[in-house]
Amino acid sequence: MVGIEEKIDVEISLIESCIQDFKQNGKSIFLSSSFQSHSIPMLHIFSKIDRSIPVYFVDTGFHFPETIVFCEKISNALDIELNVVSSNIPKIDLITKENRFLFTSDPDLCCQLNKVDPIERVCEQYDVWVTGVRKDQSKVRENFDMIAKGKKGVTRFHAMLNWDYEMINTYIKMHSLPAHPLEEEGYQSVGCSPCTSKPIYDDRSGRWIGMNKTECGLHLGVIKN
Ligand code: SF4
Repeated sequence: MVGIEEKIDVEISLIESCIQDFKQNGKSIFLSSSFQSHSIPMLHIFSKIDRSIPVYFVDTGFHFPETIVFCEKISNALDIELNVVSSNIPKIDLITKENRFLFTSDPDLCCQLNKVDPIERVCEQYDVWVTGVRKDQSKVRENFDMIAKGKKGVTRFHAMLNWDYEMINTYIKMHSLPAHPLEEEGYQSVGCSPCTSKPIYDDRSGRWIGMNKTECGLHLGVIKN
């Protein structure tokens, strides 16, 4: 039976060989991260494989201050090239005529404008987008392929697709990686502050609580091969 550390080694070798393959074929690569605790293993692995691959963080303007501080701390610690992107629509234009932010009435549109559009502008500049989505995170993600077509002609590389919660936690312990500061308070999957609560049953159950929404839209544009 394959042990967990062995499974981790196999997955890291797979990531290395995919990245080598992309580079040998002259592909330009970027990586996006939401800078949560479970995002840190991928950032750590890429900081070892190729530190020159740029990392993008989408600043929606609605993040917890703790996330912004954590993002800076991790980027400095891993010496990664961090790029922050955000919507080019001023926040004042995201207020409805009832004087409420868009996330209260149309969270899908809010995510589109503040998350999806900024990252799609980045996709237009690169051939390959590396994301940290995992099969064990949701029903939608469970059906992803490791390499898939995305919007704007980008190739999506789901580098952590086969990792599970136990592998992520083992990797974090093996390398003494820091946790997002809100984890101590009981948060798990940390997104924008208005749309994140402490989880009820699984990691992502604290996202968009009470709404018929489980994805921000970044990972809905996956085209099956
Ligand atoms: Fe807006 Fe909430 Fe989406 Fe953030 S998670 S972009 S606040 S709807």
